[in-house]
Amino acid sequence: MYDDGMDDRSIEALQTSLAGVCGHVNAQHAQLVRLVADALAGDAWHQIGLHSPTHWLAWQAGLSDTTARKIIAVARRAEAHPQVMAAFDAGELSLDQVALAVKPPGYTDTDICGLAKVLTVRQLSMVVRKYPFVPDDQTPEAPSAAEPVVSESAVSMWADGDGVGQVRATLAADDYRVFETAMRESRDALFHAGDPQAGWPEALIEICHRSLDTVADGSRRDRYRINLYLDTDGTATFADNWRLPDSIRDLLLCDGTITPVCVTNGIPVSVGRSQHIVPDRTRRIVEHRDLGCRVPGCSQSRWVQVHHIVHWDGDDGPTDTWNLICLCPRHHRLHHQGRLGITGDADLVPGTPGAVVFTDTRGHRLKPAADPAKPTAPPPEPSGRYLHPIGERLDRWAIHFNEPQPPHVHLPLTGDPEMASDVH
Ligand SMILES: [Zn+2]
Ligand SMILES: [Zn+2]
Repeated sequence: MYDDGMDDRSIEALQTSLAGVCGHVNAQHAQLVRLVADALAGDAWHQIGLHSPTHWLAWQAGLSDTTARKIIAVARRAEAHPQVMAAFDAGELSLDQVALAVKPPGYTDTDICGLAKVLTVRQLSMVVRKYPFVPDDQTPEAPSAAEPVVSESAVSMWADGDGVGQVRATLAADDYRVFETAMRESRDALFHAGDPQAGWPEALIEICHRSLDTVADGSRRDRYRINLYLDTDGTATFADNWRLPDSIRDLLLCDGTITPVCVTNGIPVSVGRSQHIVPDRTRRIVEHRDLGCRVPGCSQSRWVQVHHIVHWDGDDGPTDTWNLICLCPRHHRLHHQGRLGITGDADLVPGTPGAVVFTDTRGHRLKPAADPAKPTAPPPEPSGRYLHPIGERLDRWAIHFNEPQPPHVHLPLTGDPEMASDVH
């Protein structure tokens, strides 16, 4: 008997029910992974105007970014681990167990599946982290001392005919360490600023912005300002005379600084005062109202840009708070590329008539939160049974995985005395 009056039999019944529910949850998680694998294969998330599968899943399923990332990682590795996935389908392994079990190379599938069924998540994690696995794709051999080693760094960069930049860098070992550390720091800073999907491209651009922001001297800053030349006929060019597509022009003119220049007979005669397209005071009001990117499911709260819902350039959209909305740089770009629709009055409370509506490339409205369907029937019975891990002490030195051996050459078996004895 226990203090709260639960007897042994009740506790046993409770644990049996728990195992039953766990089996169902596991089997349903496996289904979720299968669906996500289909979505990844079909690029579904990309087509509905989102910038990453994690963003799509976290938003659609009402999950944290961490859980969404875990499910996506399993979906990507599923093919290499058919046995682990079969046990997952049968309800015998939990999502957390599977997330670890699919990390090692495919040749461990049978062994790791067996282990996952009896080890706790913590024990399994220890095995996966500490075991010196040979990766699936053989890593290239380390260069021998005789091979030439790069001692001088070289960087080349150029823009192709479409204005798309190409950068190629070969970095000496010490330079590379500096570069890599700066990139990791930058990506980490973006992550902490609320952009969990920030990758290397965002990290690199962030470093560039930060570097330009540190230019204190006014005349030097002018020299390193990126100027866009906007003509009265609406065409826009960079200093190198490269003409911008309208989508990029609109993007840059949403939240930039303009300096009016008067030109007579093709010669600039007077230069007006530079001013932000969105005045600082208006920007502060809009940022305070939106508290980050307004796109449903987006968690970025810093380094947002202020977008003109009715475009400032071309459509003469006013710089009033109802027409201004905070977007993260990626959603801002998606919109101007025509892959994310934004209409409505940004000052109205979301959900009320006339308030801002976001639409995907198919014109479907983006719902503000997860929208799970209410179950109408019990889930299908899992074919296996969930047995919780043993929970005993783990001696991880006792675990050994057999790495695949190079294929042997088989000789013909005719006249083999052992074969002959087998026949009798
Ligand atoms: Zn914009
Ligand atoms: Zn966003």
